[in-house]
Amino acid sequence: MEPCLETPFLGWQDLVNTRLLKMLPMLRPHQSVDTYLKRFFKDERVRLAFCFQSKYLGMSPFRCPSLFSILSFLEYEYGVWHPIGGCAAVCHSMARVARRLGVEICLNEPVEEILFAGRRAVGVRTNAGSHHTDAVVVNADFARAMERMVPDHLRRRWTNAKLAKKKYSCSTFMMYLGVEGTFDLPHHTIHIASEYAKNLDDIENKHVLSDDSSFYVQNACVTDPTLAPKGHSALYVLSPVSHQHPNIDWTKERARFRKLLFEKIAQAGYGDIEKRVRYERVITPADWDSRYEIYRGATFNLAHSLDQMLHLRPHNRFEDLDGMYLVGGGTHPGSGLPVIFESARISSRLLLEDLGIETNIPLTPAREEHLTSASADKPSLFTTAASMLGLKSKSTT
Ligand SMILES: Cc1cc2nc3c(=O)[nH]c(=O)nc-3n(C[C@H](O)[C@H](O)[C@H](O)COP(=O)(O)OP(=O)(O)OC[C@H]3O[C@@H](n4cnc5c(N)ncnc54)[C@H](O)[C@@H]3O)c2cc1C
Repeated sequence: MEPCLETPFLGWQDLVNTRLLKMLPMLRPHQSVDTYLKRFFKDERVRLAFCFQSKYLGMSPFRCPSLFSILSFLEYEYGVWHPIGGCAAVCHSMARVARRLGVEICLNEPVEEILFAGRRAVGVRTNAGSHHTDAVVVNADFARAMERMVPDHLRRRWTNAKLAKKKYSCSTFMMYLGVEGTFDLPHHTIHIASEYAKNLDDIENKHVLSDDSSFYVQNACVTDPTLAPKGHSALYVLSPVSHQHPNIDWTKERARFRKLLFEKIAQAGYGDIEKRVRYERVITPADWDSRYEIYRGATFNLAHSLDQMLHLRPHNRFEDLDGMYLVGGGTHPGSGLPVIFESARISSRLLLEDLGIETNIPLTPAREEHLTSASADKPSLFTTAASMLGLKSKSTT
């Protein structure tokens, strides 16, 4: 998969790459993950065990391109890892390394506007003032950032009208719970709806709520006691649902869906925990959209259909404007933390090359030790990147 994940895909020419072409007969990108797995497994339940991971991209395995069978491979081959302290611990560690390299990180300073000289991005205006920079790296949700921070007339390929016509991933209904008591239950419990195909059809095509929804419960305290006070648990319940759509009014559905999930997790072995809840935060697709600035609340960004992947996704060196680079789920390779870190590696390499800074950013983690900090003398650039990297309090929910 390296040729796929590590190439910038700045145009169709990048598809005609010998390493990639050699892989095509194996990868069969035109097939869905489920169709691809049918070659190996007749039993639908076994296929399910190898394909539900496409939900990590917010996609149905019946539509998700077979390239993403890599997700189940990674999971079964290398295992699932939990950073002690939660995912935010990864961001804190990256911030520590960045500061050591000379980066100044500005927190609680949302970018309100990207500044342009003609078609070139030359800085940002935040609630604290303007920062003039050599380049701008955008990590905020792609479609929302374009709509809010880049004037429509400056864009050619990704205008507001075109963004509205794109396909978007599903969203999630979340319950973050602080509960009195501990549970002798696994770290991960995934409940697949009895009618899985119907549940996925409801999410992706009909945009309605299913009677029997799939859901995931994370009982991370069994692995990481730092997440809750002694004798308590931090549970995280996620149900994949449609992105924001007029068919679902979350002001009406929120309470009903919450109750339904409490019933479901009781059946999953947690019992009636509602009375033991000491802290609760519910997030609906409408909240992802309005409070967390995610276009249509599509938490996994633009859908990962073949017509929105590789060079057809917004490019890491953003094609509509000069001096602007993208990282995150909205650019190549796509959504989910492992590939998002790849997008950061690709974009950093392009950016440093464009600025004429000698770079030795490794292609694979195994070569990480050769990483140099040749860019540490460019604080203005990296300040902007960091402030848009989500290293602010709102992101650590
Ligand atoms: C509930 C849930 C569970 C998930 N679980 C997993 C998992 O287990 N494993 C996995 O690999 N992936 C998982 N994902 C997917 C993964 O979290 C996302 O794909 C990833 O976080 C997206 O990264 P990003 O950098 O594109 O955007 P984000 O992580 O959303 O980062 C964008 C940041 O930009 C900030 N921002 C937005 N606007 C501005 C502005 N104007 N100024 C400054 N900052 C701004 C935001 O506050 C945010 O912090 C999950 C997603 C969800 C929603």
